[in-house]
Amino acid sequence: MSKIFPRNSRQTLPTAVGGDGCYVIDSSGKRYLDGSGGAAVSCLGHSDVAVTEAVKRQMDKLAFAHTGFFTSEPAEALAELLIAHAPGDLERVYLVSGGSEAMEAAIKLARQYFVEIGQPSRSRIIARQQSYHGNTIGALSAGGNEWRRAQFGPLLLDVSHIPPCYEYRLREDDETAWDYGQRAAQALEDEILACGPETVIAFLAEPVVGATAGAVPAVDGYFKRIREICDRYGVLLILDEVMCGMGRTGRLYACETDEIAPDILCIAKGLGAGYQPVGAMLCTGKIHDAIASGSGFFQHGHTYMGHPVAAAAAHAVLTALLDRGLVERAALMGDVLQNRLAEAFGQHPHVGDIRGRGLFRGIELVADRNTKEPFDPAMGLAARVKRRAFEEGLICYPMSGTIDGRRGDHVLLAPPFIISESEIDELVRKLSIAVEGAV
Ligand code: PLP
Repeated sequence: MSKIFPRNSRQTLPTAVGGDGCYVIDSSGKRYLDGSGGAAVSCLGHSDVAVTEAVKRQMDKLAFAHTGFFTSEPAEALAELLIAHAPGDLERVYLVSGGSEAMEAAIKLARQYFVEIGQPSRSRIIARQQSYHGNTIGALSAGGNEWRRAQFGPLLLDVSHIPPCYEYRLREDDETAWDYGQRAAQALEDEILACGPETVIAFLAEPVVGATAGAVPAVDGYFKRIREICDRYGVLLILDEVMCGMGRTGRLYACETDEIAPDILCIAKGLGAGYQPVGAMLCTGKIHDAIASGSGFFQHGHTYMGHPVAAAAAHAVLTALLDRGLVERAALMGDVLQNRLAEAFGQHPHVGDIRGRGLFRGIELVADRNTKEPFDPAMGLAARVKRRAFEEGLICYPMSGTIDGRRGDHVLLAPPFIISESEIDELVRKLSIAVEGAV
């Protein structure tokens, strides 16, 4: 019997033994098309030689040197490349091992920044109801996923959660998308004023909401207004691009489409593309300098931060994305995927919405397409779709979420950027079988 403490004790999982392009192979030889990149991780597929070679070269040179004593060549090179392509005024990179660590670091950096500049009364975070920022206590507090938070309530920070920008369910019939976006953003100003601007450190958001919503981008104008509100009250804007960053939406960073830049940006998943566990927090020079010229010490740190092998992998991944035109490919193949989904599900009685950007797409499953009535939670729809798809040899990411007390079921798709048209056809065909078998 396995000695692993699994995510789900009621499941017996196959053993993954190999990777080949967009496929994961188990010990029986069965091939699974990775339609969700795991969870939006595997942007280069599972057998990228340039990245594995970079990892091997670094292993031969230097596996580890503690960042309390040394910097390293791969960490410096990665930071340099990230900043060269970063949005706005982001000037510094803090390397960690994953998305939750990046978010945790961002929350603590935002708080320390205000302490350093003499505004210690600021400690409140505002985030959104429909969000996931990670599973560590700070990141979980910021996230709005009720199911993940439920039993940890007494341990969580007191975070304000405003409604998200979720056009499919929250735009009124007589409202334009633009007006709805302005109204949705107004919730941030209202909350800042209700809390007292002198108490708020940051607003946190995913530009395209991933796991809790199934690839929901904001409507035009929403994030521009959010940026204005943050600036007006001196509140830092932290964007969580752990899932939607690194080219996933067809731009290197999703916020480029929204034409804004954050004060702090968090990335992970696609940064290591699954070849190494790595994440990063990027911040403006202004934030870095406040600490550098203040206490001089960011009161944070992990043993494995800035790991040379992880940094070498991430550098090779980012180089591959840039040099092979893979971000542009994500945009192009994203259009193909959207079209195929529209053909397969556009008139489907149980698909209410097809959405997303680039190779970050979602379909929302509903009991009634006209009323948008969700399925009965007792059905366990997300788990059924996942199981059925897996039987067919497709990895996808179905989830249930709650918004305004109403449930919703969606399937998130985030295949590798190297996916071909015929593999997209296979993905959509297998997903259709899974949906038919589950609803
Ligand atoms: N932020 C977002 C938007 C995520 O989707 C996730 C993971 O799914 C995280 C943060 C946490 O990242 P990790 O699982 O690497 O800790």
